[in-house]
Amino acid sequence: QAKRRAPGSYHLYDPIHDHQARQQRQLYQEFAQALTQDQLVLHYQPKIRLADGQVHGLEALIRWQHPHKGLLRPDQFLPIIEDSPLEFALGEWVIKTALMQQAFWREQGQQLLISVNISPRQLQEQNFSAFLARALGLDAEQAGAQAGQLSAEQGGEQAGGQDGEQAGEQVGEQVGPLDGEQAGELGSEPVAAGSARLEIELLEIARLDNAVAAAVVMRDCKRLGVRFSLDDFGTGYASLTYFHQLPIDVVKIDRRFVLNMLDNAEDRAIVEGVLLMSRTLPRPVLAEGVESFEIGQLLQQMGCEYAQGYGIARPMPAEQVLPWLSAWAKERRWHQRATDPKP
Ligand code: C2E
Ligand code: MG
Ligand code: MG
Ligand code: MG
Repeated sequence: QAKRRAPGSYHLYDPIHDHQARQQRQLYQEFAQALTQDQLVLHYQPKIRLADGQVHGLEALIRWQHPHKGLLRPDQFLPIIEDSPLEFALGEWVIKTALMQQAFWREQGQQLLISVNISPRQLQEQNFSAFLARALGLDAEQAGAQAGQLSAEQGGEQAGGQDGEQAGEQVGEQVGPLDGEQAGELGSEPVAAGSARLEIELLEIARLDNAVAAAVVMRDCKRLGVRFSLDDFGTGYASLTYFHQLPIDVVKIDRRFVLNMLDNAEDRAIVEGVLLMSRTLPRPVLAEGVESFEIGQLLQQMGCEYAQGYGIARPMPAEQVLPWLSAWAKERRWHQRATDPKP
């Protein structure tokens, strides 16, 4: 596909491709500005525990408020920055922004597990875990230094100067880091949702070229209290293989298998297969694309732990999250069907 090539790398002159390439190049340059000019925003979509409807966390999803084109969704610009330095810059921006938002919500009395979408190639960037350690330290500072710190042993040498400054501060109840004892054992062990500060959803795991190296970085990150989910599970041939090689805490079933589960026996069989397999590991499963209460019920009967989808809530701007949470706490009202157009 053309999108994988560098812009302008066509050998034969082709007016249509030439036009596309120029547009892509322009969008790429505009995105570089978007990063520094405050045009990016995160929307948040709740995840719930099916057994009792408790809110389990929120997924941060990127949106671009383009100066001329309006609000762009990720599929309109992610392909253009894929495999470029901008993709990594975006990943760092998303992590920092989500953590600041989390700290703000914590000040408002809401401890919320936030997940971010990260390309597995970003894990292979040098110093990814050191970046994370710093970002988590920044989070603690901005939260009024209540919610946790990275001790030298948890952060490792990579966490650098942040460690000393923050060591010895109070540990938060819910999202605080793990104590030394736990940290020593951590690595392959699951990080419980309650003690995690951040969840990283790994995208397109099939494109990971060194699972062993990635697993090492993941274990470093887990010592910082970060947990990992495997996004879009069921798509991509390599998913199954990597599943056993990587320290994954939760599996997300891709929405394409969930959307039509009620009518499509094949889709239902795939969901069943993922649930069976994850039980042998064992790891909890989240189903995405849950658009109706009926599908939520069926999933729960099948043993699926968590759900996310338009039936519960669409991704929303940050300022709508606290009102949504209190409305949901009062009355867990599912939407009937996602018939209205996408936001
Ligand atoms: P994803 O991580 O699998 O995110 C789920 C996508 O499904 C989101 O689309 C969400 O709006 C949509 N969705 C959620 N519930 C439902 C539902 O019930 N029905 C239907 N039909 N769709 C639902 P969105 O926000 O357009 O994101 C698309 C993809 O873009 C994401 O898929 C993820 O792969 C990528 N992405 C989003 N944010 C980021 C980011 O910050 N960084 C990177 N690298 N990728 C991102
Ligand atoms: Mg995701
Ligand atoms: Mg997904
Ligand atoms: Mg997806």
